[in-house]
Amino acid sequence: MKENKGLLIVISGPSGVGKGTICKCLLERNDGLSLSVSATTRAPRDEDVDGVTYFFKTVDEFKAMIEKGEFFEWAVYNKNYYGTPAPPVLESLEKGKDIILEIDVQGALNVKPRFPQGVYVFVAPPDMETLRERLRGRGSESAEQISNRIAAADGEMAKRFEYDYIVVNDNLDNAVADVEAIIRAEKLRTERMAKKSEN
Ligand code: ADP
Ligand code: 5GP
Repeated sequence: MKENKGLLIVISGPSGVGKGTICKCLLERNDGLSLSVSATTRAPRDEDVDGVTYFFKTVDEFKAMIEKGEFFEWAVYNKNYYGTPAPPVLESLEKGKDIILEIDVQGALNVKPRFPQGVYVFVAPPDMETLRERLRGRGSESAEQISNRIAAADGEMAKRFEYDYIVVNDNLDNAVADVEAIIRAEKLRTERMAKKSEN
């Protein structure tokens, strides 16, 4: 019998919409899920832990990783490099383990045509004012960085229909339940497709 591969779950959307919060809840509530740890050249925030929230790299280190083909995908977001190291993602999928990538819109839409068997979820804010309030409320970036992130959000929102699903993060519990329902349905679909290809 053909073994099932893991499901690649891409969670994306504007900065401050609640992607990290949703992913944290998903991991707490679902034992089988794991989250890919990205590499970045941005400065660590107080709550960041190297190797846990991100692998912090210099620009030269990051560029060397690009040259060696070590990334599943990478992008420049607000003048910093961000990338998904390939080996942990490929190993998880090969072992049949589901893995989440929490990445920006450019990265997600770059992966989608190359990896159509993944599921692509755009997390949207209830409205743009709420997005601004959440970014300000998080208090982790300077006023200038917040404006840059809000400026990027309009272009990112315009790409939302290129995803498989749009989940509005108004009430957090509802948004988490929506993503769980998507994962469950996609797993049933990919399992059915694997069975069909056996016959
Ligand atoms: P992202 O990872 O998309 O940049 P975060 O998960 O850091 O966003 O969330 C940004 C801020 O919004 C955080 O302070 C978080 O606690 C808050 N937040 C997330 N989801 C909700 C929600 N549904 N309702 C209210 N606040 C939320
Ligand atoms: P932050 O600086 O707030 O941690 O992240 C900024 C943006 O970069 C967020 O939209 C986040 O999802 C995205 N991001 C984080 N890791 C990666 C990655 O590995 N690849 C890409 N393309 N984007 C990432």
